[in-house]
Amino acid sequence: MQPDGRLYPSPTRMEIETMESEQEDVPYRSISDDIALGESSGAPAVERADESHADLLGSRNHYRRVVQVLSEGVFVQDRLGNMLTVNSAAATILGHDLQRLAGQNATRLAWDVVDEHGVAIAVEDRPGRRCIRTGDPTFGEVLGMRVPGGGLKWIEVDALPLVRAGDDGPYAVVSTVRDVSDRVAAQRSAATAEHRHQLVLANAAEGYHIVDPDGMVLEANPPITAASVLVDARGRMTFDLLDDTDHRTMNVVLANVLARPGETFHADVRVRLVTGDDRWLEFSMTNHLDDPAVGGIVINHRDVTARRAAEDSIRFQADLLDAAGQSIIGTDRLGRILFWNKAATRMYGWTLDEVVGKYVPHVVPPVDSETQMREISACIDRGETWTGDLWIRCKDRTLLQVFMTTTPVYDLAGQFLAVVGVSTDITERKLAESELARLALHDTLTDLPNRLLLVTRLDELLQRREPRGGAVAVLFVDLDRFKVINDGIGHQTGDEVLRAAAKRLAGAFPDEFIARFGGDEFVILHAASGRIDTDVLAARVHAVFEQPIAVHGYELFLTASVGVAHATDTDTSETLLRDADSAMYESKEGGRSRTTVFDETLRERATRRLVWENSLRHALVRSEFRLVYQPVVSLADGVPVGFEALLRWDHPTLGSVGPADFIPVAEDTGTIVEIGAWVIAEAVGQLGAWHRELGMVDLWMTVNVSTRQLATPSLVGTIRAALTAAGIEPGRLHLEITETALILDDDRSVKTLQALRDMGVRLAIDDFGTGYSSLTYLKQLPIDVLKIDRSFVDGLGTDPNDTSIVRMILSLASALDLTAIAEGVETEVQLDALHRYGCELGQGYLWSPGLPPDEIAEWLDRAPVVAHKR
Ligand code: C2E
Ligand code: MG
Ligand code: MG
Repeated sequence: MQPDGRLYPSPTRMEIETMESEQEDVPYRSISDDIALGESSGAPAVERADESHADLLGSRNHYRRVVQVLSEGVFVQDRLGNMLTVNSAAATILGHDLQRLAGQNATRLAWDVVDEHGVAIAVEDRPGRRCIRTGDPTFGEVLGMRVPGGGLKWIEVDALPLVRAGDDGPYAVVSTVRDVSDRVAAQRSAATAEHRHQLVLANAAEGYHIVDPDGMVLEANPPITAASVLVDARGRMTFDLLDDTDHRTMNVVLANVLARPGETFHADVRVRLVTGDDRWLEFSMTNHLDDPAVGGIVINHRDVTARRAAEDSIRFQADLLDAAGQSIIGTDRLGRILFWNKAATRMYGWTLDEVVGKYVPHVVPPVDSETQMREISACIDRGETWTGDLWIRCKDRTLLQVFMTTTPVYDLAGQFLAVVGVSTDITERKLAESELARLALHDTLTDLPNRLLLVTRLDELLQRREPRGGAVAVLFVDLDRFKVINDGIGHQTGDEVLRAAAKRLAGAFPDEFIARFGGDEFVILHAASGRIDTDVLAARVHAVFEQPIAVHGYELFLTASVGVAHATDTDTSETLLRDADSAMYESKEGGRSRTTVFDETLRERATRRLVWENSLRHALVRSEFRLVYQPVVSLADGVPVGFEALLRWDHPTLGSVGPADFIPVAEDTGTIVEIGAWVIAEAVGQLGAWHRELGMVDLWMTVNVSTRQLATPSLVGTIRAALTAAGIEPGRLHLEITETALILDDDRSVKTLQALRDMGVRLAIDDFGTGYSSLTYLKQLPIDVLKIDRSFVDGLGTDPNDTSIVRMILSLASALDLTAIAEGVETEVQLDALHRYGCELGQGYLWSPGLPPDEIAEWLDRAPVVAHKR
């Protein structure tokens, strides 16, 4: 440290020389004798200095002048940094006053110096000080000096050490400085531009390669695009790596490029990166081979993977829309068509080109849909979806019924985008629906409403009737003996007859509702504001069948049995139909072709039926049934040949109920099957007892069997079991089936009869003459016995009609080789006549009514049966 407190000795100690170029008198510190240019080894400048050593030393003046006129700044510092010499150019360049610089210690000048990269350089690392320290010269080192105002002045510095022979290090350093700010600025801006260019290229998805005709890459931007994958190790661009399709595409493009210089050709191809990812590149190639500035084929390429993906997705969505079976139409808010898919073309006939930009209602006008159109607009305004059915007129003027959904669509920002209308053709579905509905409620044969629709309509009628107090009548019409037609002539004819009957009824009751209830049953609903005249209605029904129906070459005379029920306040469709049905049965039983009005008597009977239905179920368990036996005798001598078992029901409250009353109920409810099985077992068992007890082994037992039993497959087994249990031969059992029940509509019944006959059981037709069995029928069925109905026996010998009928039946029986038995013989007159006409067997009150088993032995004792007793 110096005595004055300064780090360095005061410059006043030195003789300061300033080097003003134009001023001779400007004082400057001579370096004369004590200064010699250093002998630094190897440094050319130093050597040069050596060469001029003598001159320099020889002429201080010359030296001073040279330094003065130098445009370069020159200054000399001693080891401590003190400025020994400084020229004015240096002062200007360093931005200091020459007077202030001279004699100044450079280390103490507050120069803010940075390197090329803007990093501050410490005083000791600056070229002059470094040169002093190391003894090495510096050439062309560029430094930035901070100038007032914050900018940087760029200075190029050379530093030469001055060394005296024998010294360790330099004693001084000569620095020359040049202002290179302009150069640096120019360099910098060029570098920046290049850098920016490189950056742009490096970051651009776009790249380029310039290749020669062989594909050798002449120039390229940094290998940043996927296209670099296509350049091989020899630096040649090849498309071999592309897949077949893309390879072919590129070859075609290349051929075009080579053939047509200057023109640009494009192709999109997929490139697989080493990572395995696929990138889509868009190539644009132009032949600039003849252009001396380029001299190659310029291949621009751009990564369009994202765009392709977006396009694919859009195309996919468009395909989806087109693939949709529903028509999809996009419109703007005003209804102008923006989009129209293929299904819309299929449905409405118009193509997208024909309709785009047009108003939807002009293209596909809705018909009779003003309300709906208003609703749709309102929904769109509210941002809601509308759905509904519309009739639309198509391009070819036909009408379509469509199910339409319109929805306003908004973008993410909530801005209205479009209205999307999706429609489905439901014309056929609607037709099918209405046809289905019609089919479900109509009878296919006659096309009349069916039972379901009948009930619905009747319910409506009953409901509507009440406040006005109108009348409703239900007519149940059943064709008489329709089964005969069906079975005798054939079902096809039967169907025709039903169709014809339906047509005639519909014609006769144009204002009434007519339904086919089932089979040969029709129901007519008649409503009136006042009283209903049943006779008039009934007459109209019967008149329908006055004329014969001509079908398939037959002239068929039909009649119908009619039941009428008038609605009471408490009636429902169910009770009304049931009552009309009961009344119709009454007509049947009363001899057909007539009308019965459901009344109190019928209601009572119906009620009783209901009661019986319930008690019949319990009667078997409670042993309320018993059998009575009526003898069948030989008319010649009155000798009993067998017995007919007749069922009796001892009802706990009603007393003894006859089979004619309860058998139909038991048949209806099905209990007849169990009851019948009991009868068979009981009667056969009884015969077995008599065989054993009385020894009358020739006696047979007759059991009545209903159709319902015949249709039950278990009947054969039941009978066999009963016969076996009682030890009775099958031939001793006779089964009676009433003639009316014999019009069998069931194959099973015929099979059962045959099986029984095969077993040896004998079969009889009961109440013969009341039914309508044809001769064909009689011949086909395995019958042994005909029982002449009591009603004919009644007038025998007194009524000529009855007499001739009985005679006819007897001759028929003998012709068919059947046994005839007369039932209900009460008088000697009848017996006489029967005898006379050749009837051999009979039964009736003349001999005995049905007797309980315990009275039979007593009866037999009185009867001329002794001959038969063993
Ligand atoms: P059906 O088989 O023709 O029986 C003859 C009916 O005439 C019996 O009536 C009998 O009591 C009655 N009868 C017999 N002789 C005379 C007579 O001289 N004058 C009069 N006026 N009537 C006579 P019932 O017992 O009331 O039987 C009525 C019908 O019930 C029977 O007619 C038969 O078809 C049926 N039936 C009776 N028992 C059974 C049975 O166990 N099962 C089935 N399925 N039906 C039965
Ligand atoms: Mg009988
Ligand atoms: Mg009978």
